Amino acid sequence: MSVAKNLESLKTSISAYPCLLVAVSKTKPVEAVQEAYEAGARDFGENKVQEMADKYEQLPKDIKWHMIGHLQRNKVKYIVPFVYMIHSVDSARLLKEIEKQAKKEDRVVNCLLQVHIAEEESKFGLSEEELFEILHGEMLAKATHVCIKGLMGMATFTDDEVQVRKEFKALKQLFEKVKADTQLPSQVDLQELSMGMSGDYQIALEEGSSMIRIGTSIFGERNYH
Ligand SMILES: *Cc1c(COP(=O)(O)O)cnc(C)c1O
Repeated sequence: MSVAKNLESLKTSISAYPCLLVAVSKTKPVEAVQEAYEAGARDFGENKVQEMADKYEQLPKDIKWHMIGHLQRNKVKYIVPFVYMIHSVDSARLLKEIEKQAKKEDRVVNCLLQVHIAEEESKFGLSEEELFEILHGEMLAKATHVCIKGLMGMATFTDDEVQVRKEFKALKQLFEKVKADTQLPSQVDLQELSMGMSGDYQIALEEGSSMIRIGTSIFGERNYH
């Protein structure tokens, strides 16, 4: 199957839902991204700073680049000049660095706060308590170059649909709780709920996702060396 055909059938399968499809092109060559671009995709997700910066250089400038992987503070400066959204903000220190670099570039960077919803220990993300600490914290209240657009989460990697649904439901509930919070600063403009990957996007959409991040179902399996 070609990238274009995969994209087409994916779009058909999600057409009932008002969601943004982020094509996750990590590890894939620029040619594959170009093919998806020509088939209409404009939002691409990467998890490595260097790879995203290289692809940004080589590909059309109307692409919106989404950082979806764990981000180290010392690398923030390399993507802030062009990144469209950072889905993986998982600490106040990281957010502070994004603010600092965005200020230098004179731009406002869209951020999602990544929440830990999976059973697995290994996944990054904030607890509910840490999430509200950031949302109500002094640093965000003083920030002028970041906007918190929503939340992101990854479910446990399992075939157990009940488990996955439970985790997405919990994230959606937390999203609604944050939305209903009357003490939020103006730097929070909660609109997006980024959840769902190739293996679980259908459940995520049923549970209220507004952004799905799809790699394998568009570009095929990844080869890691
Ligand atoms: C790799 C990745 C995806 C896409 O995964 P697929 O299973 O290939 O669709 C989505 N989100 C994050 C955070 C990822 O790292």
